[in-house]
Amino acid sequence: MVVSARGATRLAGGHPWVYRSDVVSAQASAGDLVAVHDRRGRRLGTAFYSNASEIALRLLSARAVSEGDLAALLKRRIEQAIAHRRQVVRDSDACRLVFSEADSLPGLIVDRYHDVLSLQALTQAMDREPVRQTVLETLLEQTTPAGIVERVEPRIRQLEKLPPAADRLLAGGKTATAFTMNGVRFHYDGLAGQKTGAFLDQRENYAAAGTYAHGDALDVFCYQGGFALHLAPSCRSVTGVDSSRPALEVAERNATLNRAEGRPEIEWIEANAFDLLKDYAAAGRQFDTIVLDPPAFARSRRSLPTALRGYKEINLRALKMLRAGGILVTCSCSYHVSEAEFLEMLRAAAGDARRAVRVLERRGQAKDHPIALSVPETAYLKCLILSVSD
Ligand code: SAH
Repeated sequence: MVVSARGATRLAGGHPWVYRSDVVSAQASAGDLVAVHDRRGRRLGTAFYSNASEIALRLLSARAVSEGDLAALLKRRIEQAIAHRRQVVRDSDACRLVFSEADSLPGLIVDRYHDVLSLQALTQAMDREPVRQTVLETLLEQTTPAGIVERVEPRIRQLEKLPPAADRLLAGGKTATAFTMNGVRFHYDGLAGQKTGAFLDQRENYAAAGTYAHGDALDVFCYQGGFALHLAPSCRSVTGVDSSRPALEVAERNATLNRAEGRPEIEWIEANAFDLLKDYAAAGRQFDTIVLDPPAFARSRRSLPTALRGYKEINLRALKMLRAGGILVTCSCSYHVSEAEFLEMLRAAAGDARRAVRVLERRGQAKDHPIALSVPETAYLKCLILSVSD
């Protein structure tokens, strides 16, 4: 496998991806382990090859790795990934155990929900049967789960030209369980039509938000209640808003799991967040704590201006609705929006709202979603905690 000078420079800089346009000659099949060379024949490392994805090569190692060495290498990397979580994850029996490129295991994601693991194989190479076997064996050995389920992303299988597949049980017998993060309990069901789970990357931000939350709280884009449930112990009232009825049904069940003396009943509202914020603002509603955690508005760099307008609209409305001393927890999970751009958008929104805003915390994804220094794509979540005065 020969790559262009541009591809070689990228690999030398520590980024593991080579795009198809930078592959000069390819003699390999779908999902092969290949030796990568530059045009002068210099060896650059060993990569997984995809004959379908725009990302043709994902470097696995800067060294030579043979098919015979592969199982041992994967096993070692998975063990290291799990050992890292044992060091950095506190107060939770749920976390991401393997995060693809950030754990030098490109194309593999494994999440732990108490005693059930959920696995995603996102590339042709990770989908290969012997690779799956190694991954499964190592996970069983290292974590002794009661069940391992596979979660399929149909769009990604299409992009990788892999045959369609369904979510399924891969090992053990258990697919549903309950897990605990920061003392808050959640349902998990890896195979139900109505999936449950959590945005594990927000785990540490949930706890941080909980420490500032007070008064009347509004969790916008609440999904299954991640933030709302963490705000409830210290708030007078909590309202969660989402456009997905199934997500709110799980949120309600999660609230039941956490019911306790003295805590407010959380009100769940099915609505379009943009409309609801507009209506609340028109009605003069006020809050002391607002969380904004929308889906990724910018799916590509091209959609950035539209995305920033969307972020500004909701943040502006939230800033206007906060009482003096109020807290805004505002997030963006779009990799294409940098923290600097996000802060600049917030500055403009604060100006328009005529509010003085202080940045209490600049946060990102939880530590079990590590950021690989030379892979900027692994840093995607921004979570700012702001305090608002007059
Ligand atoms: N805060 C959540 C994760 C939010 S994910 C947590 O911590 O678990 C984004 C959510 O936004 C999804 O649940 C999706 O249903 C919802 N959503 C997307 N567009 C929306 C809209 N226009 N109005 C309200 N909710 C929306």
